[in-house]
Amino acid sequence: MVIVLEKNISNADKDELKSFLEKNNFKVNEITGEEETILGAVGKMGIDPREVEILPGVSRVIPISKPYKMASREYKKENSVVEIPNNRGQIVRIGGSRLVSIAGPCAVESREQMMSVAKHVAASGAVMLRGGAYKPRTSPYAFQGLAEEGLKYLKEAGDAYGLPVVTECVSAEHLDAMKKYKIDCLQIGARNMQNFELLKKVGAVNIPVILKRGISATIEEWLMAAEYLLSSGAENVILCERGIRTYEKATRNTLDLSAIPILRSLTHLPIIVDPSHAVGIRDKVPPMGLAAVSAGADGIIVEVHCNPEKAFSDGAQTLYPEQFDKLMRDIDVLAPVVGKETTRIRNQISLSTSENENNKTKKTDNVVCAFSGSRGAYAEIAIQHYFDKQSESFPCKNFREVFQAVSDGKADFGMIPIENSLAGSVYDNYDNLIRFADVSICGSIKLRIEHALICNKGTNLDSIKTVYSHPQGFAQCTEFLSQYPDWKLVECSSTSEAACNVAKKGSADCAAIASEQAATVSKLEVLKSGIEDDPRNYTRFIVIKPNNTSTNENISSLVSESSTGMKLASVAFVTKNEPGALMSCLEIFHKASMNLTRLESRPIQGQPWRYMFYVDIVLKDSTSNDVEISTDSLNTVIDKLKSQTEDVRLLGVYSEVN
Ligand code: PEP
Ligand code: MN
Repeated sequence: MVIVLEKNISNADKDELKSFLEKNNFKVNEITGEEETILGAVGKMGIDPREVEILPGVSRVIPISKPYKMASREYKKENSVVEIPNNRGQIVRIGGSRLVSIAGPCAVESREQMMSVAKHVAASGAVMLRGGAYKPRTSPYAFQGLAEEGLKYLKEAGDAYGLPVVTECVSAEHLDAMKKYKIDCLQIGARNMQNFELLKKVGAVNIPVILKRGISATIEEWLMAAEYLLSSGAENVILCERGIRTYEKATRNTLDLSAIPILRSLTHLPIIVDPSHAVGIRDKVPPMGLAAVSAGADGIIVEVHCNPEKAFSDGAQTLYPEQFDKLMRDIDVLAPVVGKETTRIRNQISLSTSENENNKTKKTDNVVCAFSGSRGAYAEIAIQHYFDKQSESFPCKNFREVFQAVSDGKADFGMIPIENSLAGSVYDNYDNLIRFADVSICGSIKLRIEHALICNKGTNLDSIKTVYSHPQGFAQCTEFLSQYPDWKLVECSSTSEAACNVAKKGSADCAAIASEQAATVSKLEVLKSGIEDDPRNYTRFIVIKPNNTSTNENISSLVSESSTGMKLASVAFVTKNEPGALMSCLEIFHKASMNLTRLESRPIQGQPWRYMFYVDIVLKDSTSNDVEISTDSLNTVIDKLKSQTEDVRLLGVYSEVN
């Protein structure tokens, strides 16, 4: 059963409640959620739930209707995120807002094989390395794996590229070896999904586990297997759909993609998909990997080998590194459509600047990122995605205040919208980039904007008279609003402030256009979601940080070493006031074969009819094979610009998260 605690329960009452449950043979687990704290109590139901409901500090008791308890959504409302650290202290999170890709060969064959495949998959963006050292083969005469030697090579290769490793555990006898080689994540293979003795022992060591779906297991049987792991002590369980056996012979198995949305409602556990074992045919793996992402999977696990024809096992379904690289690039493009980013093992440049000495008001070790608006603003969602929840957000009244907070060292970073795919540039922020010369761009992220009509409980479309939003919110929902010509539209400084206004009024005659997250923050209800005119509605945010390096003296220190994604440089310049001046500047970019993705002009304050031009230069486009433009070439271009212009500023060299 789930016991929802009252917000103000005393520690003494909580302790008493726990010991009452334990005395009655329940296993108790406290879960602190965003809205409420609960105790999950699992055991044989020897007492009447009403006996618990009357205890002090208990708000209500919900019996769990499903046969699986700890795995059920009733037990835990929020999605679980499994955290697996690498040897550099970075954390791979499975189940959050980011997609993960795990890659590697079916079996570990040699040290060289593992080193070369790890290098390739890491460069393409895999965040974990797979490889079987104990292989459950249909034939006893087939290659059975290198055993301990395999674990050693797997771990060595993972450590060399900062990739945590996952390998299958076929027998509890191997658990000591798994611990000895510091295996980061164990896999329970399809053939062992219902090996309950193995599940109990693996659960007890409490190492993260990927639990594959059994070859002919129902979703309920699969969740019961997860329950074995959880109830034996495993705190981190990831489900992996890998295809089930059906009458269809064209593929090795049939990939049950519908299991993903079904599982989402039944369980809080992260869900990944293995398209390799599902289809069994190399060329059919990438489309099913993309389909898994589209269906809402938290990630994929795929077999990759530098020489799949020579692979000791599963060669026919194993991707070449180039195919994996293409799949990763396609996932990068698809991710924002499903509201996600891809996880990359990044250099910690961006996070380590939190040790910045001029921290005047920072109280915590976390990265602090400022944004304009109140809680639930789109910029705050962008912060959560960009820093993968490893940051604290710091609300400011307006964009200028965000720049000021970064410049003063009150925040390590700022998250600033710069352009929207429907409404165009946010001019204020181009001006702020010039106004605050001690701030530079260090990153960028594209966020899909989905608007919702949110309101107080009891509101319906007929009771609404006034709608609050930011002018951009109204502009992006004109078709929806045109159905309600009588509604009065009131502009606010942000969509999150609009949500706060509605919450403050508390009445059923008003609503706000804002994010669903703003509804959660302001305790409002979502009346209608996805009301934007065009679902392809993206805002590009830039991440700003204090700039300790002036203009182009040390470009490389500004470069984020993200392995994929678009790498850009932003430059601002003031042309001479003469015919052809802009043309001669553009000529410089052209001659250096630089692709410009943006050209903006802004009037210079106090100098009527003089303009500042802004350009974004593509240094590396991950979707093309063009070589990256070097720091030297960029410096040369900036020097040439200096001779043609009155002023030049390098605003930043940075990578886009997607
Ligand atoms: C594997 O991942 O190599 C494997 C054997 O998978 P499954 O258990 O899904 O067949
Ligand atoms: Mn395999």
